[in-house]
Amino acid sequence: MAIDLGTANTLVVLKSKGVVLNEPSVVAVVDNKGKKSVLAVGDEAKTMLGRTPGNIQAIRPLRDGVIADFIVTEEMIKHFIKKVHKKTLANPRILICVPTGSTPVERKAIQDSALAAGARRVQLIEEPIAAAIGANLPISEATGSMIVDIGGGTSEIAVMSLGGLVYSKSLRVAGDSMDTAIVDYMRKEYNLLIGDTTAEKIKKEMGTAVPTGTNTYPVKGRDLRSGTPKEVNITEEDTAEALNDIMKQMVGAIKDALENTPPELSADLVDMGLTLTGGGALLKNIDKRFSKETGLPVHIADDPLSCVAVGTGKALDQEETFSTMLSEY
Ligand code: ADP
Ligand code: MG
Repeated sequence: MAIDLGTANTLVVLKSKGVVLNEPSVVAVVDNKGKKSVLAVGDEAKTMLGRTPGNIQAIRPLRDGVIADFIVTEEMIKHFIKKVHKKTLANPRILICVPTGSTPVERKAIQDSALAAGARRVQLIEEPIAAAIGANLPISEATGSMIVDIGGGTSEIAVMSLGGLVYSKSLRVAGDSMDTAIVDYMRKEYNLLIGDTTAEKIKKEMGTAVPTGTNTYPVKGRDLRSGTPKEVNITEEDTAEALNDIMKQMVGAIKDALENTPPELSADLVDMGLTLTGGGALLKNIDKRFSKETGLPVHIADDPLSCVAVGTGKALDQEETFSTMLSEY
């Protein structure tokens, strides 16, 4: 069993079956006079985000790429493993992919949660390495490969060679920050208050890194002056403007990575370029913008949302090839 424990989504891959679970990394917790218990996990919990009464909290335990709440994270991992596990093998070997920024304590906690959920053996793999394997990059070779994985809470930027990380950086600017930027922009430009879920929808349907389309898109929210519901029409000029700062920060981080890469590997990257994975890779024209501003060819992995999970599954499958890239705490 291979698990991609993402800040926004968790995916589980089984050897023979491919992706068998794909749910938001969200846990709904109910507080009964100080005694907390898990009410729902995954899809069911996500529908509760922003809509809970006082005693229920919908939590994203990995939101910023670090574990905010160990107990809730553990419950979530156990829940997902058991959900898949019930229908299949007993005591599976599990490979979990973790963000490069996670601490040894967090890694140990993730590993222990999986063991507590019934795993026979638990190994970990770095997220950008899993992404690179999923995108079929030649990471075992003496060639530079570069991954930019844009998830919900964090963007992972990494340069790899000979199966190891040469440079890695976890940036806390990713899909969630884009949603927040759209909320802020709508408030500033249109005096319109919208929620994060609406902002995410705008990003997916109308968001762009470079404005090229001419359609307009209706956005409903609350007018900040009158307090009543209102609808305005926005264009790609609006979303590009809203996301401009975030794009600049990402380009800056990519340039930092390039500056910190040994020259021989930089030379490889000029030809090979960088590969985008994670849900953020689906932002319209993000590849064009990164390519224009870094001068490198930019590729988008096939199915960027499941690339890391597929790569983790492949690393589990082909143990001999990838064994040096797995670790245990
Ligand atoms: P993680 O690995 O951190 O769980 P994912 O790789 O699953 O994150 O990506 C989730 C992020 O991708 C979310 O912020 C989501 O809004 C964003 N996303 C999904 N589809 C699109 C799209 N079409 N355009 C822009 N962003 C998208
Ligand atoms: Mg991810």
